[in-house]
Amino acid sequence: MSEYTSLDSLGEFGLIRRLQEHVELQNPSTVLGIGDDAAIIEPGQKQMVVTTDMLIENVHFDLTFCPLKHLGYKAVAVNVSDIAAMNAIPTQIVVSLAISARYTVEAMEELYEGMRLACENYKVDLVGGDTTSSRSGLVISVTALGEVEKGKAVLRSTAQVNDLICVTGDLGGAYLGLQLLEREKQAFLADPETQPELEGKDYVVGRQLRPEARMDVIHELKELGVHPTSMIDISDGLGSELLHICSQSRVGAAVFQDKLPVDQQTLDTAEEFKIDPVTCIMNGGEDYELLFTAKLSDYDKLKNHPDITIIGKITDAAEGVNLVTPSGNAHAIKAQGWNHFA
Ligand code: ADP
Ligand code: MG
Repeated sequence: MSEYTSLDSLGEFGLIRRLQEHVELQNPSTVLGIGDDAAIIEPGQKQMVVTTDMLIENVHFDLTFCPLKHLGYKAVAVNVSDIAAMNAIPTQIVVSLAISARYTVEAMEELYEGMRLACENYKVDLVGGDTTSSRSGLVISVTALGEVEKGKAVLRSTAQVNDLICVTGDLGGAYLGLQLLEREKQAFLADPETQPELEGKDYVVGRQLRPEARMDVIHELKELGVHPTSMIDISDGLGSELLHICSQSRVGAAVFQDKLPVDQQTLDTAEEFKIDPVTCIMNGGEDYELLFTAKLSDYDKLKNHPDITIIGKITDAAEGVNLVTPSGNAHAIKAQGWNHFA
């Protein structure tokens, strides 16, 4: 007999009961969680922000190299990243699953273990969801709620000329992590005996499989007394996110190539794949760092922050959105981010 439990042996309600076993509530705004027809949330005087993201098997994730636990973590983290990009604090999520018959109860428990870990890290309550069957792959839809003091949400449309342009962490790693994993998958498909060659690649692979939302930076900016003038999270590459801020704010930008933050392992891996690391930074995706602008007067508060790099400044719209090379040449930034319909 298999040690795994089939989904139909447990049924929808049995599965929901199993999955909710480890769910703990920690936010005072959560009045009622899983178990009734709807959850109850009491936002008080704050404004609520809402965001949702859908992950589809073989479009957004590949289970040949993505462990379900990581996938669960990532499904929550990418939503928290959107909440962070509004300068809000995440408070609740709801999770909807469409599961095909080839998944076991244990597999879904793995997925939920990852989500539970993320909920614990980001102090988010899992308050509900929906469970249904799928004829093809796994579909995970997460909706996140967050709260922000009235007037403190940070939009994409409010950058001003002369603002500093800042990014958190380093960029380009997640894209190269994906290239590595794809390469190993192809090698494995060609010869199942082959051992994966991922030694010394833990950082970039981790950037792909287990991204972290930068809630830490949101809290630190608040402590520093820096209120970003505009903000967006970097899910599709720096270039496309910068264009979003510039077009919505009706401004231009000058970003300096030699200021772009990049990890040594990202550089080494780019060289291995003969890809320009600048391309990975500008057009790669899934780094889930934050891109924000701040007033010039905040320069001293930001310049020595270990997780924040000032990469350029906002200019007049007429000057365009440019990447300035070390030799001083300005190249117009074009959107080449991931297009789902391409
Ligand atoms: P209904 O049929 O009224 O929509 P369900 O049986 O779908 O109710 O859900 C019962 C409870 O379990 C609800 O609180 C719902 O939010 C929760 N729930 C269902 N599926 C999930 C899931 N995948 N993750 C978390 N909670 C879930
Ligand atoms: Mg339902």
